[in-house]
Amino acid sequence: MTYQASLSYAVSQDQQDSLNIFREQFHFPQHNGKDAIYLCGNSLGLQPKALKAAIQQELDDWQTHAVEGYWRAENPWLYYQQFCRNPMAPLIGAQEQEVSIMNTLTTNLHLLMLSFYRPAGQRYKIIMEAGAFPSDQYAVETQVKLYGYDPADAIIEVAPRPGEHLIRLEDILQTISEQSDSLALLLFGGINYYTGQLFDIKALTDATHKAGAFAGFDLAHAVGNVPLQLHDWKVDFAVWCSYKYLNGGPGAVGGAFIHAQHAAKLDYPRAGGWWGNDESTRFLMEKGFVPKASAEGWQLSTAQVFNMVGLKTSLQLFGATTITALSAKSLHLTGYLEYLLQQLKGIPFEILTPKNCAERGAQLSLFFGNQGKAIHQQLTKAGIIADFREPGVIRLAPAPIYNTYQDVFHVYEIISNIQTF
Ligand SMILES: *Cc1c(COP(=O)(O)O)cnc(C)c1O
Repeated sequence: MTYQASLSYAVSQDQQDSLNIFREQFHFPQHNGKDAIYLCGNSLGLQPKALKAAIQQELDDWQTHAVEGYWRAENPWLYYQQFCRNPMAPLIGAQEQEVSIMNTLTTNLHLLMLSFYRPAGQRYKIIMEAGAFPSDQYAVETQVKLYGYDPADAIIEVAPRPGEHLIRLEDILQTISEQSDSLALLLFGGINYYTGQLFDIKALTDATHKAGAFAGFDLAHAVGNVPLQLHDWKVDFAVWCSYKYLNGGPGAVGGAFIHAQHAAKLDYPRAGGWWGNDESTRFLMEKGFVPKASAEGWQLSTAQVFNMVGLKTSLQLFGATTITALSAKSLHLTGYLEYLLQQLKGIPFEILTPKNCAERGAQLSLFFGNQGKAIHQQLTKAGIIADFREPGVIRLAPAPIYNTYQDVFHVYEIISNIQTF
């Protein structure tokens, strides 16, 4: 790869980029009358320009049809989940019946732990990554307490080795094999939100199955970012939110994957609701829950149409390309950011994210030590929207669907100027 630290190189890369057409489909926040440089799509994706009209469509259909909108709306509300589910499936390598668009990430994590965390006898432990997203930590802590276990005993965290930032695959595999008599569930992030480390989901799933346990993943930072093959990897379940790389909008509906081999089993323990009931008897309003023989058998409630329209609109854009194409651009774009950062001299900083691009997605996490906050403020003043996490980490995530090589180059220019202060 022969990158060059020049604007003309960045311009030529943008000209050759066939995905560049998507950028104009999004609204960018403004800074001094110009589009800000937005590298925060790992936190909240941008608004698709088509969304306003899509929301207006639902308002019009409600106004015109009222209850008949369930059948007569332009996008009948009865099937609204499926307008998101079907385009979602190829992004994660799932069959359509393995996907359920519902609730929010943490809610789905709790719901699926009811089905896949089944502590019994010696087998009650959960392996997770040290430094997992707090909501996952709280979900796991409260779930093990629900069954009367002590979190300090029931939860095993795999941490980076002293002096390292990343978790070694060999250490996770070793922990799984050590716990093969006591392990009930492995719950890992697909990509760690803080370091940007992408875990080997297939290897972790295989090892967990060998230990006789279920493997579940939180894909908040992986979905819409890296290609996934959840079905082929035989992942048991996964959950995600859709307001990060998927651009579904603040608090947008989340999703769940349940592998076909489990989804078809009607006797799995679960929390039931009428929208998870078999459709042929759903409206008979009779006693006796009969789940759908698919991931939708975990649904509870009718579609939250206004909370799904953002995701539906954004997925139309993803549907006009492929995650493979987006990922190919992403590797090159984030690689360019890494290359440019390596040209910087002056303020010392460390890139926490793996150097190997097979172990990361779009995000690079830069550790600036005690200068982090001040540098983040300077970036903000210069019109770069990025994310700051204590202690001293700035996360930069060029999203291939709307970011450009010029965005990345301008960030480099701005950071180089900060260094002269
Ligand atoms: C963003 C994120 C969440 C958010 O959970 P919500 O229930 O959608 O608020 C959870 N886990 C991870 C790893 C995240 O990055």
